[in-house]
Amino acid sequence: MANPAFKTQLFRFVDVFPATSGDADVLRHIHEYFEGADAPRLLDLGIEVADRLPLGGVLSAGVARRIISRMAHQFIVGATPGAAVEGLHRLWREGSAFTVDLLGEKTVSEPEADAYTGRVHELLDALFRAAPGWAPDDHLERDDIGPLPRASISVKPTALASSYAPLTRQAGLAQARGRLLPILRRARDQGASVWFDMEHYDVKDLTIELFRSVLDEPELEDLHAGLVLQAYLRDSARDLEEVLGWASGRKGPPIGVRLVKGAYWDAETIHAGAEGWPVPVWGDKAETDANYERCARLLHQHHGTVRAAFASHNLRSLAYAITYARDLGIPDSGYEIQMLYGMAAPIHAAIRRLGFRLRVYCPVGELVPGMAYLVRRLLENTSNESFVRARLAEGRSLDALIAPPPAVALPDPPGLAVRADTDGRNPGPYAHEPAAEWRRRPAREALAAAVATAGRAGPLDVPAVVGGAPVRTAATIASVDPAQPERVVAVSAACGPAEADAAVAAVTSGCDGWRRTPAAGRAAVLFRTAAWMRRRRASLAALEVFEAGKPWADADADVCEAIDFCEYYGREILRLDSGGLVSSPPGEANRLTYQAKGVGVVIAPWNFPLAIPTGMVTAALVCGNGVVLKPAEQTPAVASQLVTALLESGLPPGALAFLPGWGEDVGAHLVRHPGVAFITFTGSKAVGLDIVAAAAVTTPGQRGVKRVIAEMGGKNAIVVDSDADLDQAVPAIVASAFGYAGQKCSAASRVVVVEDVHDELVRRLAGAARQLRVGPPAEMGTEVGPLIEADAQARVARYVAGAPAQGQVVLARADVPTTGYFAGPTIVDRVDPAAPLATDEIFGPVLVVLGAPSFGAAVELANRTDYALTAGVFSRSPDNIRLAAAELRAGNVYVNRGITGAVVGRQPFGGYGLSGVGSKAGGPDYLHQFLDPRVVTENTVRQGFAPTG
Ligand code: NAD
Repeated sequence: MANPAFKTQLFRFVDVFPATSGDADVLRHIHEYFEGADAPRLLDLGIEVADRLPLGGVLSAGVARRIISRMAHQFIVGATPGAAVEGLHRLWREGSAFTVDLLGEKTVSEPEADAYTGRVHELLDALFRAAPGWAPDDHLERDDIGPLPRASISVKPTALASSYAPLTRQAGLAQARGRLLPILRRARDQGASVWFDMEHYDVKDLTIELFRSVLDEPELEDLHAGLVLQAYLRDSARDLEEVLGWASGRKGPPIGVRLVKGAYWDAETIHAGAEGWPVPVWGDKAETDANYERCARLLHQHHGTVRAAFASHNLRSLAYAITYARDLGIPDSGYEIQMLYGMAAPIHAAIRRLGFRLRVYCPVGELVPGMAYLVRRLLENTSNESFVRARLAEGRSLDALIAPPPAVALPDPPGLAVRADTDGRNPGPYAHEPAAEWRRRPAREALAAAVATAGRAGPLDVPAVVGGAPVRTAATIASVDPAQPERVVAVSAACGPAEADAAVAAVTSGCDGWRRTPAAGRAAVLFRTAAWMRRRRASLAALEVFEAGKPWADADADVCEAIDFCEYYGREILRLDSGGLVSSPPGEANRLTYQAKGVGVVIAPWNFPLAIPTGMVTAALVCGNGVVLKPAEQTPAVASQLVTALLESGLPPGALAFLPGWGEDVGAHLVRHPGVAFITFTGSKAVGLDIVAAAAVTTPGQRGVKRVIAEMGGKNAIVVDSDADLDQAVPAIVASAFGYAGQKCSAASRVVVVEDVHDELVRRLAGAARQLRVGPPAEMGTEVGPLIEADAQARVARYVAGAPAQGQVVLARADVPTTGYFAGPTIVDRVDPAAPLATDEIFGPVLVVLGAPSFGAAVELANRTDYALTAGVFSRSPDNIRLAAAELRAGNVYVNRGITGAVVGRQPFGGYGLSGVGSKAGGPDYLHQFLDPRVVTENTVRQGFAPTG
């Protein structure tokens, strides 16, 4: 505790420990984690609850194992329900009630949810077998309202349902209800109370909904059940009031409410901070304590409607609940105190001695799946804010510790994050546009309304735009909803060489004034464009849902990224406008400045239909260039929104032309046009390389060499080490491989796994991908939408058909809609690394798995590709992470997270090798590519004197 850096390393080591294989592996990890630290002495200092090591003793694998299992057994009552029963009986004899929590790994698939459910039934079996034989204890089995069941369990809703998440809430609720109802019926019939544990804020509303929905079932009227509320949440008092209102109308025994402080404070704070969302927990411990007391008052005021349980080790909080109850005349038996098994034992004893009913929360399970629980307990025990630490470890005075929390205001919870528009005169630092906070109802409702509106709209008319005026062509191109191709979303112009020549001529003459506009004026146009998009965020995302087939979260993220590009490049040009770094000796003035290159062509793909064109176009424009934009033929309507946004935000109409049309037609012509100074392309390798070759040819009259910035494809790999946290790796790999049906250039298409964990990883991956919801993106719960067009569907089908000859197909989903361009997630294991499946960019939901004998071999296999775009690694070995970071051949390497979703300004994006030429989008080097640097040197010496300073 005295050494926070060591504490972090120690907890990380504790976290990886169960995934180590044998003594040599344990020692390797000890060495990597504690290199240079005096590990034995520090361990002796750091773990209050562990065996003391003899000073100077050598930390062997055996000692580490003993220390960690000793810590775990302090908090875990038994490995199996059978083994735990003895410990529960001991507690009962001591005069404590209990509730049992089954520790488990994260549930990522339906079979895993079934397995958890099976363990809950086993637990009930063991309890119903043993508990009736125990001596009766009226103190524990009756309160002022009536009898209390002897047996009690606490269930984790996330373990009961693999789709238990904000956007897949309907499916998640149905899965959880289906598994829960039989458990609850048994509890009702055989006499057990069931507590619904509260977990992360992401699923808080869902768990309250689940609780209410099952308890509204008439058949469960007599069930003893309880809900947990977390006082650290800013929502909790309001939630409690709603629950109380609902409970007051219920028949049967009162529901229980366990009031806790909350165990995920760090995680909630970090997560919300990273997303840019309002932090759902109180920032200050005093606020949580004050809120706990507020909620305690509410509970007591509704005594009889609910049965209150106060779960805390903080004596002040408990004393407050007790005193307030006595003031209201509620007997001491009218509520209970709950505490964690193995934590603050002296307080347990004191509570029992004082005659209160104590219920001990008893985790049961193996060390490996219990590790997350153990780390939470260690964090809690050692936190600066911990009562247990302050009293039992530091011996702080009781008078100070039971003082009331300082008076603090407890404001209502904030609304959704709203980023203020940028003031062009004073832009302030760049910040990422927060993604929609789906876990909160208003965010879901906003997009639902926009999708409903867009779904009713007729086909949009998308003309070309030159000089701000619409240009129509005889031929047209229809863009369709890939989920229902008979529905035309937009009809665009189909420009050809004639329109291209006219557009280049118009922009060449029309962009002069723009070039001369000061950088601040150009930046201001981008900031206003960002504001324009921010205001229309939901309707832009809804258009993407239909035209690009993007599920909600992907569509929303694309709009956020477009806003980010405007905000980021607007600031970047202000930075570059102040000039480059050069030195000037006495008598000489040197200035390095950047000037626009001229007229550029931007050729965009469909897969990020707003963000990618916005990034390329705004970067080129903000540098003072003119731009001819050729959008993808599949998504002209979305791209035309960018054009409208820019023109309505003050871009001179002459600076931009918009030419929808076929790539090989208008695109190929533009690339070869002698009046073009640069080409910015994002798309396939084949087209990119063609553009590079075409641009190299100079024609008579051409006054410059064309610069090409080309972002192309990838065959991206994720390496999984033997000590990886599979609870973390599996969902991240599934999201990276199958998000947007694998149609992201950054998508994972290969997993290279060290053999030790191969089988488990493949089994869990297949399980998780089997339950992905494939369907129309307009539906909120869809995780995998259609492919973009019929050709793509046919291409993916060809690869899937060839898969049995190239490896073992472990998942081939055929349960997908038959209308629309759908393709089911497919996983092929043990693929020959040289087979087309393992080398070609398929651009669909197909994931290949390769096994490797060692981590080094896995990295080597991952690098066997000409592409170098993104790569990932899951490992908890500091040395292996260092190796992967240095050696993986990719422009963006991600460690212990998914490999898609780069954020402007955080993960500048782009590859090398055959994945691209040019420097990264959304990074500090990007704008240089649209500028010609110039240096002006002036001799300032006249007649032997020069200006000074
Ligand atoms: P694509 O290459 O087929 O089309 C991209 C654009 O090029 C479209 O606007 C198209 O009309 C145009 N085009 C086609 N033929 C042309 C030609 N002969 N001359 C000039 N222009 C032409 O790619 P796509 O299918 O739209 O996009 C998918 C590809 O894009 C994948 O390979 C993916 O990896 C890649 N991609 C890369 C990145 C990145 O940042 N590296 C980002 C997104 C997509």
